[in-house]
Amino acid sequence: MARNTIAHIDPAAIAHNLGRVRKFAPDSRIMAVVKADAYGHRLDLCLPALERADMLAVATIEEARAIRRLGNGLPVLLLEGVNDHGDLAVAADLGLELTIHHPHQLEALERFGRSPASRLWLKIDTGMHRLGVPVEAAAGMHRRLLDLPGVEQVNLMSHFACAEEPSHPLNALQLERFHRATDALDGERCLANSAGLINLPQARFEWVRAGLVLYGISPLPGRPGPELELEPAMTLTAELMAVNRVAAGESIGYGARFRAEQDMSVGVASIGYGDGYPRSMVDGAPVLVDGRHCRMCGRVSMDMITIDLAGCPDATVGDEVVLWGQGLPIETVAEAAGTIPYELVCRITRRVRFRSRQWAMRQVS
Ligand SMILES: *Cc1c(COP(=O)(O)O)cnc(C)c1O
Repeated sequence: MARNTIAHIDPAAIAHNLGRVRKFAPDSRIMAVVKADAYGHRLDLCLPALERADMLAVATIEEARAIRRLGNGLPVLLLEGVNDHGDLAVAADLGLELTIHHPHQLEALERFGRSPASRLWLKIDTGMHRLGVPVEAAAGMHRRLLDLPGVEQVNLMSHFACAEEPSHPLNALQLERFHRATDALDGERCLANSAGLINLPQARFEWVRAGLVLYGISPLPGRPGPELELEPAMTLTAELMAVNRVAAGESIGYGARFRAEQDMSVGVASIGYGDGYPRSMVDGAPVLVDGRHCRMCGRVSMDMITIDLAGCPDATVGDEVVLWGQGLPIETVAEAAGTIPYELVCRITRRVRFRSRQWAMRQVS
């Protein structure tokens, strides 16, 4: 029988979360960010739930191609644009909108002689110092982009570095610089990501870029998804392969990291770092066994983890184990691994099977 390690993807949750974004930013249009295979949720399973988004955004040409291959005709923005002639030809072929974040991209476009789409997006660096043209260069770049044959509209974009911390002084500074760069220019504006669209109402403008929230995950520290009425789109499950007794004083797993203080019942579940469950997970990390809260103990192996079954004494082989999702917010799980939910969902490996349907939650106690 196939190994029961499954990522259950719930398209209805994604549609619900898109509705939540509309509530948070009622006057903005929504760019649904589906890069990295829809944040590891799989593009093919998620796109149908995003048909009411106003456009899609990805990081690479390959990701955009995958969208078109699935027959999706929504406008698509390449968040990092392209650099050379060959990619411009592909972008034109696929009708992609481009981000222009550097003069070399503008020059490549000028050499290409036309724009792949009638709408382009100029990215301005307002303080993140990753991608974008300086505030002072924005007007000149904007003018030159508008001069390209086939261009009708050049929108304006920037990106927050600290949007999940609303009181961080960089937010106000970035907002002020964004205004300074764009107030006198024609074109719609787009500044906020998930955290920004929730936290920073002044930053919503005509467009918001929603990524993480669409998948039902909260970008705000200390406020997991359910508090924002988000529904997790992924529930990752495994199953108990063995239930063993371990005597007091014995250790469990590689490196003998965990030592039993008393006789205990230990479950072995079919998931490990070979599936994308992080090896950095600490003893005590939460899991659900048959709907009940238990704690991981011992190091994560490639194919297995070990679980202290104190919270579920009658657990048996074959019981379902939830690693994150419905009933167990991924935000809490990520903390136990010293990482962020973004990374957990993106690193699930090909060995895990994906299933598109709502995971039927048992009673969680
Ligand atoms: C990935 C990305 C986003 C989405 O960010 P979330 O925090 O997931 O909402 C927005 N803008 C840019 C430029 C991105 O690269």
